[in-house]
Amino acid sequence: MTEATLNTGLRIYTDGSKTERGVGAAFCVLTDVNITHRWSTRLSLRNTVFQAEILALLKAVEHAVSLPTQQLTILVDNQASINSAANPKSHNSIARKIFKLLHSHPHIRVSWIKAHAGNIGNEEADRLAKEAAETENFPETPLELPKSFIKTFLRQKMLATWQMAWDDGDTGRLIHNIIPKVSLHPINWTRNEVLFFTGHGPFPSFLHRFNLAETSFCSCGEIGTPIHYATVCLLTTSYHMAPPSQQHQPIWFRRVANNSTSRRKIHNLLHFLQRETSLIRPDPN
Ligand SMILES: [Zn+2]
Repeated sequence: MTEATLNTGLRIYTDGSKTERGVGAAFCVLTDVNITHRWSTRLSLRNTVFQAEILALLKAVEHAVSLPTQQLTILVDNQASINSAANPKSHNSIARKIFKLLHSHPHIRVSWIKAHAGNIGNEEADRLAKEAAETENFPETPLELPKSFIKTFLRQKMLATWQMAWDDGDTGRLIHNIIPKVSLHPINWTRNEVLFFTGHGPFPSFLHRFNLAETSFCSCGEIGTPIHYATVCLLTTSYHMAPPSQQHQPIWFRRVANNSTSRRKIHNLLHFLQRETSLIRPDPN
């Protein structure tokens, strides 16, 4: 793309700007060497600099359309907004509006110009956009929020709702203790780890609850809970880990779930329990 080097006739320069304090869009009209019209607006801080650039271009085109028909060039230092406006199928509704206007007004041309090259029109548009961005009470143009912002916003809302349901729920409390925070990332537990952490596995304590075992006792004489087999049962000593004190059980589960060595032990323990069901369940006679 060649750079436009115009210094006579009617030109419109556009620019968008985003600083920590705000977002601004602007254009100015140059008639020969004089600035004859200025326009600028402030956008929401949530808007992007691209949205400012494309809005500035739309306002410049609308202004050009309102003028008596004459050869006229709009100079833009932002390649992305030019490309977007040249695409009739752009996802951006402002870009599609620009395309339609330019299509029906062929005397208006849009050209790319290098930024910060000492061009008076470009410098002025840049200054106006920055001024609008930085001035708190500047008249604001409400613009739809960028898709990326809406996506993040909706995901946060969804996670917050899910978190509330997870915190207040009645089921899955054992897992809630280990994974208190909801997340879209998979936790990658093996089947055996799920059996252990949910307690829904080959444990007499669980089987008895569902009438799948005569008793909730282990054949060693104690209640056959997951933690029993992982810490104290005489039949599973090679899989043992240090037992928690009663009030520290929740922390113990969390620690085990977050430690890869412990998780390997759990995996092997479950393997053993599944293989040796007759050993761990008391003889019915
Ligand atoms: Zn036992």
